[in-house]
Amino acid sequence: MPANDTTLDPASFSDQPTPIRYRLAPTDLAGHRCEVSVVIQNPHEDGQIVSLPAWIPGSYLLRDFARQIERIEARCGRRRVPLYKLDKHTWRAAPCKGALTITCTIYAWDLSVRASHLDESHGFFNGTSLFLRVHGQESAPCLLELVAPDARLTSGNAAWTVHTSLPSAAGEPGAARDHGFGLYRAPDYDALLDHPIEMGTPQVIRFTAHGAEHEMVFTGVIPGLDLQRIADDTRRICEAQIAFFEPETRKAPFLDSAPRYVFMTMVTGDAYGGLEHRASTALMASRADLPVVGRPEQSEGYRTFLGLVSHEYFHTWNVKRIKPAVFAPYRLDAESHTRLLWVFEGFTSYYDDLMLRRAGTIDRATYLELLGGNLSRVLAGPGRKLQSVAESSFDAWTKFYRQDENAGNAIVSYYTKGGLVALALDLAIRERSAGRRSLDDVMRLMWRRYGRDFDTVGLGLAEDAMPALVEEATGIGLDREIRSWAEGIQDPPFAELLASHGLRLTMSPAGDGHPWLGLRATDRDGGVGVATVTSGGPGHAAGLSAGDLLIAVDGLRVDRAATLDAMLARKRAGARLRIHAFRGDVLREFEVLAAPPPRTRARIEPEPKPKAQERRLLSGWLGRDETRK
Ligand code: ZN
Repeated sequence: MPANDTTLDPASFSDQPTPIRYRLAPTDLAGHRCEVSVVIQNPHEDGQIVSLPAWIPGSYLLRDFARQIERIEARCGRRRVPLYKLDKHTWRAAPCKGALTITCTIYAWDLSVRASHLDESHGFFNGTSLFLRVHGQESAPCLLELVAPDARLTSGNAAWTVHTSLPSAAGEPGAARDHGFGLYRAPDYDALLDHPIEMGTPQVIRFTAHGAEHEMVFTGVIPGLDLQRIADDTRRICEAQIAFFEPETRKAPFLDSAPRYVFMTMVTGDAYGGLEHRASTALMASRADLPVVGRPEQSEGYRTFLGLVSHEYFHTWNVKRIKPAVFAPYRLDAESHTRLLWVFEGFTSYYDDLMLRRAGTIDRATYLELLGGNLSRVLAGPGRKLQSVAESSFDAWTKFYRQDENAGNAIVSYYTKGGLVALALDLAIRERSAGRRSLDDVMRLMWRRYGRDFDTVGLGLAEDAMPALVEEATGIGLDREIRSWAEGIQDPPFAELLASHGLRLTMSPAGDGHPWLGLRATDRDGGVGVATVTSGGPGHAAGLSAGDLLIAVDGLRVDRAATLDAMLARKRAGARLRIHAFRGDVLREFEVLAAPPPRTRARIEPEPKPKAQERRLLSGWLGRDETRK
């Protein structure tokens, strides 16, 4: 029965090699610096090599965390020894007989889920930006001492608590107790990196889902936060997902490796994001998206937050345990390419909203509205005709994570379109098996084969595994469809697939129906800044470019994007507009032929009179429509 200070059986570590001992001390809260040390009892006799990761799993961009190391030094016993820097993030210490200690001062001022953030109010830490890898001893167990900051330096002189899924080092002197500072333990370096740590004075609520303890931690100024409501909704989502993957045992996947699952959320005025870990997730949310005590309505923002919670929790199975072969194990010193992020991010994006529906936190009509929104977003992007989701996955490092003004024209999102490929596969399987099989069977087969037994088997998904997996799990061959929808650039036949489930897809003009220039406009410098230009649109044809500053249309000043909109509302498609714009400091004139807006707005609604088979397929997929009697 898990209690708050649950720890793991120390006996299971007894035959392991000597632990590597890390220490994290938030020393300079005002300057956002912490001191991190590592003690290596048995350094390599020719000089120990250590390095810091260049990227954090789940976020496919080289971030070179070592650039935040301000000071690094090595000691052999008490004697200072030289450290030779070998590349941007690797060092070799001079040979040392006995314990080698390497100490760094690290700057931690990145308000995101990807690195570390420290001030007087809290500390948030990812191991990838702090803990040096001891080359050759990656499989040694790790001990981590978390040191409390001087309480005179914290906001309100408050004593901080610790929130992490890392288990306490039970049986060791100084083991942490009950959300306290002290000693924690990880079975190896890979695990040490995968349990982020929040410390401070957050708002906290706990619940159990199918017997597993969960903790939700909210950091930031959030008056009136309805913690109980969030916990109730999240519990339903967690239980739906646990039952989805383990319909018989209902066993949460992290139970053997962590005392609890932790949702740690940093809340600001305007933020959104999340990063998955094996028994926790780090989230960023906007204050306005979180529910307020006494206001029961479900805002769009709160639905978005629950979708994020659902997304990251689903990753506990899909990508943290079921993973591409190239991530087993992760190699964190350079890019690690896979063509399968459309499965790991796309399928997760498909199931995040679907799990809200299955948990009963949204109704069927709301689900269809969310799906329509995703479809509209994908269909509005010309990039999907140039890049497949498999290619987008492979090039995540240099394209999806490094988007510029041309991204929409040149690339496709393996999240959004990957989610729609999952939808199309699911509907195709349901239709062809008359509702007896679905993508759920594929997910569960992947879980059994690559996830549940991963720690003992250690196999990841081969790059070309999907077609055979789908066929094995469902008896339906979708090789050709996967080649064309995921490896290729074909749009799945959404209208037909939805129609087979008694749903009608209607396309209507995007935006407010006003004539279209194919530009994304922003307010800038007293004019209208062009943020992006859609390939093949009227702006492109007229020669307008991202970065141009529009100042007049047909001789009238445009000072804001809303003014331009109001002008377009008075025009018809086919009208010629004379636009004056600055490119840099040069005034230029353009003639733009306003076009009818593209019909990319998708709406998905139930057919009023579906056939019996269609009705059965729809309720098998999305449950009964509770708004109809
Ligand atoms: Zn994700």
